[in-house]
Amino acid sequence: MPSYLFQFEELAAFTHHVAADTLFAFDLDGTLAPIVADYGQARVAKPVRGVLQRLMGLAKVAIITGRSRQDAIGILGFQPHLVIGNHGAEWPGQNSGRRWELVQLCLKWRDRLHTALFYEPGVEIEFKGESLSLHYRKSEDPQRALMMINAAIEDLDPAPRTIGGKYVVNVVPAEALGKGEALAAALEQLGCSRAIYFGDDETDEDVFRMARGDIFGVHVGRNDQSAATYYLNQQSEILGLLNSIVGVLESCCESGPECADG
Ligand SMILES: [Mg+2]
Repeated sequence: MPSYLFQFEELAAFTHHVAADTLFAFDLDGTLAPIVADYGQARVAKPVRGVLQRLMGLAKVAIITGRSRQDAIGILGFQPHLVIGNHGAEWPGQNSGRRWELVQLCLKWRDRLHTALFYEPGVEIEFKGESLSLHYRKSEDPQRALMMINAAIEDLDPAPRTIGGKYVVNVVPAEALGKGEALAAALEQLGCSRAIYFGDDETDEDVFRMARGDIFGVHVGRNDQSAATYYLNQQSEILGLLNSIVGVLESCCESGPECADG
């Protein structure tokens, strides 16, 4: 069960993982950006963006999101060291980074789902390249919408991996990289010694469940089922935490390199 981060002992233990060679990795929606009714309107608040940009001058920063990379960069309003989209499947490198066979499969699925869910009000199908998101936040009968979505997904061939979320069902090709594998690869690519990962969704449990000694999970929002080490009560607490992290790293820089591994 995760423990609340803003307690004396927890903060002391957490601070121990904060160093210049730590990768600070984040989910986007519900973690850096508040959840909004219209998923197209999500934004990272200016103060959060500001402190993340300061953090980038002190350590490596990565985003691993269910959104497409392009969409995520727009919402962030800046470009971190690494942005991985589509739940871990979409990596940078322009078109060469895309898994076109997965994109094609998702296009095929989108057409099938569009036909199957055409008469279901309040359901929106978002095509993101290597994955699809079926949103039903706007449905007047969310339970029914979810049932219809699940029935439509069951008819897909080949069968996808599905990941639930807040009023959304994500449809991902079975062979696509998940967030856990993506974070492990990011650690290696960016040459970091450890990672602290922040997330609030079922997809983020992929990271938390890896149970690696060099990856620390922070769940945004209390969830006793989460495999994360720590949790924050709400998304708005991320700003204070980021400020503390930047403060720790800045004081490390001033007091010399011996602090970097502390
Ligand atoms: Mg999220």
